[in-house]
Order: sequence, then structure tokens, then C-alpha cells
Amino acid sequence: MCGIVGYIGYREAYPIVIKGLKRLEYRGYDSAGIMLFDGKELGISKTKGKVSDLEEKSKALASSKATIGMGHTRWATHGVPNDINSHPHVSNSGNLVIIHNGIIENYEPLKKELIKRGYTFTSDTDTEVLVNLIEDVKKKDNLKIGKAVQIALNQVVGAYAICVFDKEKPDEIVVARLGSPLAIGVGKDEFFVASDASPFIEYTSNAIYLEDEEMAIVRLNKPLKIRKIKDDSLVDPYVQELQMNLEQIEKGGYDHFMLKEIYEQPNVIKDTYRGRLLANEGIIKMAGVEDNIEKFLHAQRILIIACGTSWHAGLVAEYIFEEFTRIPVEVEYASEFRYRNPIIHQDDVVIAISQSGETADTLAAIKLAKEKGAFVFGVCNVVGSSISRETNAGAYTHAGPEIGVASTKAFTTQITVLTMIALRLAKAKGTLSNSDFHRYLQELEVIPEKVQEALETNDKAKEIAEKFKDASNCLYLGRGYNFPVALEGALKLKEISYIHAEGYPAAEMKHGPIALIDEQMPVVVIAPKQGHYDKVVSNIQEIKSRSGKIIAVVTKGDIQVKDLADHIIEIPETSDALSPLITTIPLQLLSYHIAVMRGCNVDQPRNLAKSVTVE
Ligand code: GLU
Repeated sequence: MCGIVGYIGYREAYPIVIKGLKRLEYRGYDSAGIMLFDGKELGISKTKGKVSDLEEKSKALASSKATIGMGHTRWATHGVPNDINSHPHVSNSGNLVIIHNGIIENYEPLKKELIKRGYTFTSDTDTEVLVNLIEDVKKKDNLKIGKAVQIALNQVVGAYAICVFDKEKPDEIVVARLGSPLAIGVGKDEFFVASDASPFIEYTSNAIYLEDEEMAIVRLNKPLKIRKIKDDSLVDPYVQELQMNLEQIEKGGYDHFMLKEIYEQPNVIKDTYRGRLLANEGIIKMAGVEDNIEKFLHAQRILIIACGTSWHAGLVAEYIFEEFTRIPVEVEYASEFRYRNPIIHQDDVVIAISQSGETADTLAAIKLAKEKGAFVFGVCNVVGSSISRETNAGAYTHAGPEIGVASTKAFTTQITVLTMIALRLAKAKGTLSNSDFHRYLQELEVIPEKVQEALETNDKAKEIAEKFKDASNCLYLGRGYNFPVALEGALKLKEISYIHAEGYPAAEMKHGPIALIDEQMPVVVIAPKQGHYDKVVSNIQEIKSRSGKIIAVVTKGDIQVKDLADHIIEIPETSDALSPLITTIPLQLLSYHIAVMRGCNVDQPRNLAKSVTVE
């Protein structure tokens, strides 16, 4: 996972590349590098660290008049993050320069072969092998760079989005993709290349998204030609008009992207159901579902595959689908599913969930499910992402760019999409009464207002965070629909504050975790009025008798838990099935404040990357 940027045109490339890398830093941030070519000399600077470190280190290049440049922000897969392993990588001759997002799986045999042929390597990366492979192919048959890239890529197993520059062809950049995203911005007399459109949005709104196994030679004053890497056939470039604006990808006044994204939830949930949920008419219409309604209605089983937070959204969906539609649901980690020879029937519907739409394990699981004949439906956020293309149909969450590594708005919008699908199917199957169906539609429509109200718990969350910021462990408990919320609450705390946290179904506590409870242990209990309230109250009693510190998320006006808990956070009432959309909000805020108070890098927690494009 990394961010790549390239520019070729008439403007000075340095500021474009550096600014572009900053916008892409959410994609990877362990090292960064830049290459400029001013017509004579290659200028390369790279460093372990962030783009700001690169800016510092590459000061000498900042005044360069070069109008061709490439940059990379890395999330290491092969070789530790250090200066040498940072991209760009240069071939042995010093002529070819590459930036790469992905993994070359067969780099070892290729490297051995190249060493035999006299090549030497300075880094531990798979990427340096690729650039030398291209060089070797180019030299052997005296080929042009585009052809050499194509032939080399046909020998490569793995995933890549690459930009290759050849000093001998200084008016072009060769780009290619397989499994990692790559967008080309088409301006007047200039081209941009990037992992997404954010680096070039202010220069052009025309973008071409390369498909897997496609390559292009981005050449000045020449129309863009896209080819299939395998058979060299030409592909018609499809130029899209971009709708994303810059404001969407900047912090918008908040200290962190994560906080901004937490606060965006009322709006993005509306964006998610806009045009799909017509509460007054009693209609849910989602093209991907309508077009395939028979598949869904005849499904013997729904299999949900996802990772991380998306997996938690999948768990919430399991409860919703089974209750609303009576279709049996199984939820699987994509990484387990893909490697365990799962039983998949032709009449299974597989729903794959991923914010980025690039999650490597989920993508592989989708391919497996498709091979076995299942119908695969994708739920992802990034338009044009690999998952959106790999699936038979799908629905976007429309949450806008999520830059904070800890997922927040992706979670609630995924649940919104999945709830709408379940409601649509319930209506078709008659598994919900008419009045319940209409009630849920009405309730879903006002969820953004309730989320807004739940955001008002921010001060309370901050106050509680102050008390527990030094905890070393934390337990999250919930039942029914709020068990996955407990898991998600614990994950949020772990990933951004580095406090060890575990989520548990509240009733399971007595089968083990209760042994952990003492006066040092904060226990967050999700106890809204709807659902298994009385049972949860009993669980709270059990914690209290063992001196655990109770932080309870309760429905406004609650009296019983208020008496027992050390701290309460009040949220608006909603039906049990929709409650995860509300109960999760104060948990996001709590983790956020604890992490900030501990001085953690909230938006870029250590060891994590926004979308996990490696297995
Ligand atoms: N595999 C390459 C490396 O480790 C690229 C990783 C990335 O996508 O950032 O350098």
C-alpha cells in the first residue's frame, strides 16, 4: 500500500509531486521519495519518514525547473522502512526509475536470475528487482521502454501500480496496473498520474482509471494509448468527469481527519441513503439489488466476507438480515475464507465489504467465491475501486474519502447500506410486517439527526477520556446488535491509543473475562433501553460487585444503569436493530480523545495503513 504521483507537462513538477504526496499520505507513510528530470540530470531524494521529512531533505530540488517528476509514499512490504528501501528505485544503468505500489511475489527467483546476469542490488525491495528486470528485457532486445515494461510485467506475479521513467525517453512516463489503483489526470498539454485523483483535482477534472492488466504510455503532445499488458490490444480510454472536490479531502477545520470524519456521519449517512430510501412512499431502491433481486430472493444463505471494521459491520448485518429476511447469514474474515476451501453453493449470495475496495484478502475471497459460482455483491466506498469492478454487482457507501486510518464513517455507512438491502429483501419476501417495514424506513430516515444528537456526547466522552487515558486494559461489552459494536469500540481504542482492549458479548463475560475485573479495569457497557436491557443490567451488577469501573452507554433518561455506573453517556432512543448506528458514536469519540490525550498520532497510528492491499 502506498501513494504514487507522477507529472509530465509544462509546470514545475516539484511542488505538484510534493503536494500530491501529502494528499496521498493516508495510503502509506513510512518513507517517501521524489524524482525530477530537468532534461539533463536526474534529481532523486528519498527518506524514511513522512512527506514533511522528504520536503526537508529534498530542499535542493525544490528550485528545480524540471517539468517531469514522480513521487512515492511507502508502506513497506519488502525490506524495512529506511532511506535505501524507499522509492524511487533506479536500475543498474542509472537510466530507469520506478515507483511501485504493491508486491512482486516472484521477486526472489527473478532476483537470483538477474544476479547471475551481473545485476547488483542496493535495497531489499521487490521493486528494485522489477526495475532491473525491465532494464534487462530492454537491453536484451534493444527495445523501447514501453515494450520492455510490457514484456517484464508478463513475467511478474503479484500486484502493482507502477510509473517508470527512462532517461532516454524523457517526454514520457510508462504506467501500468494490476491489483493496485492508478488514475491518470488528463489536462491540456499535461498529464498527472496518481493512486487516486486527489493530487490533480485542482488542475483537471478529467480522469482515466486504468483497469487491471492495463498499461499506458503517458507522452507529451500525444494522445493517450491504453493497452492490455497481456495481448497488446488497444483499449478505448474512458475519461471520467471527477466529482470529488478538494474540501472533501482536507481536514475542514478539525484537528484530525478522524474527528472530521466522525462529525461527517450525519451528512454521509444521508448521502448513503439519498435517492435510495423513500420513506414516505415506502420504497427502497438500489440499482444493484433491483437488478439482481431474484438472486437475493433465492439465496439459501448469505455469506459476508470482510476484514477489520468492515467485518464488524458484517456482524451487525448478520443480525439484521436474519431478523428482517430470515435468510441464514454467515460472516467470515476474508483472510480465513480464502485459504480454507470453504463450501460455497451456486445459490449463495456473497456480500464483500471494504471501505477502500482494495483490501487484498477480500479481493482474493471474492475471486474464490466467483470461481465457485456464487453471486458476489460488493459494498465499498471508493468509486472505481478493484472490488467494485470484481464483484457482480454492488452498492457504494458514498461516505466520501476516509483518510483517518481508524475507520468511522465507513462503518456507519456500511451498516446503512446493509440495512437498506435487508429491508428491501424483507419487503419482497414478506418477512417483516408492513407496519414494521414502514417504521424502519421512517426511523432510518431520521437516523442522521440522532447521530447528530449522539455527537453532542463529545464533551462527556472527553471528560471520561481524561479519567481513563492511562488505563492499560479496557473491556467492551454489548449484547445482540450491540455485541459487534463492543468489538468495534475495542478495536478503535486499540488501533489509535495502543491500549489493550477486548470486546465481548456481555453474557460471555462470566466464562472468562470476568477474572480480569478489578478496580483498575474500565468496562464500557453498551446498554440501550431496547434490546436485552435487563440482562445487560445484571451483567453490570456483576462487574460492580468486582469493583470494575463502569462506563455505560445508555438511552437518554435511563435511571437504573445511572445508579450503578461510574459514568454514563446518554444517547437518543432508537429501535434495537438500528441502535449500532447510534451507540457506536460515543465509542468513536471516547477512543479519539483518549488517543489525543496520550499524544498518539490519531490519523496515522503506528504499524497501520488505511487500506490493506497486501495479504
Ligand atoms: N513492495 C514495495 C516495497 O516494499 C512497495 C510497497 C508499497 O506499496 O508501498 O517497497
